[in-house]
Amino acid sequence: MRQNGIIIALDGPTASGKSSTAREVAMRLGYKHLNTGAMYRAFGLYVLQWEIDPADDEKRAWLLDRVYIDVDENGNTLLDGTDVSAKVEDPKVAQMASKVSVFPDVRARLVALQKEIAKEGGFVVDGRDIGTVVFPDAEVKVYLNASAQVRAFRRHKDIFEGNTSLRISDVVSQIEERDRRDMERENSPLRKADDAIELDTSNISFEKQVSKIVALAQGRIEVEDPHGR
Ligand code: C5P
Repeated sequence: MRQNGIIIALDGPTASGKSSTAREVAMRLGYKHLNTGAMYRAFGLYVLQWEIDPADDEKRAWLLDRVYIDVDENGNTLLDGTDVSAKVEDPKVAQMASKVSVFPDVRARLVALQKEIAKEGGFVVDGRDIGTVVFPDAEVKVYLNASAQVRAFRRHKDIFEGNTSLRISDVVSQIEERDRRDMERENSPLRKADDAIELDTSNISFEKQVSKIVALAQGRIEVEDPHGR
């Protein structure tokens, strides 16, 4: 087994509940949580702060050269040393994250960082390409899915509570646009790893999806380390 435990890879489309599930699973197992989406969001925030067109190869390379993204002990995302975990929740940042994540240079940089952070195990890592590219050797791989309507409803309820001007149909369109970009990009598109277990969460409770993943992980930990080192 890796030094600190196994790696649980949690992939799935936008708003499938990956991050909240990953956080809870990590807490129950005494593991750490690595939210890779927040890292793409941090770079998206950086692009917005510098007001640079992310499609400009030279300027993007310049930004990648000087940006410093990291994750602290508590799983907070740091941009140039400052905790930006709350700022990156802004929908504008999310849209930019989705745009910057198609570029191979951005992915190469962040994937290398993700591998370095979680390589000793004891991590629940959530994203789009964790089971396929970042940790193809993860001991447990889960692909969380739900229909675009169900995901839009949850996102609308969570983030836009009280914002009556935002229609659910707009949220569905935003989600579908991000799904399309994630699935159709050439570099590391979103797809279920062949050996991942698919969990459709459209009709199950949060508690149920968390306990299913915890049970899968515990089973695997037991196999890897029967004497509970
Ligand atoms: O998961 P989250 O919505 O926070 O991710 C923000 C964006 O980062 C996504 O729209 C996706 O395009 C990108 N992403 C990615 N690969 C990952 C995690 C996120 O391309 N491993």
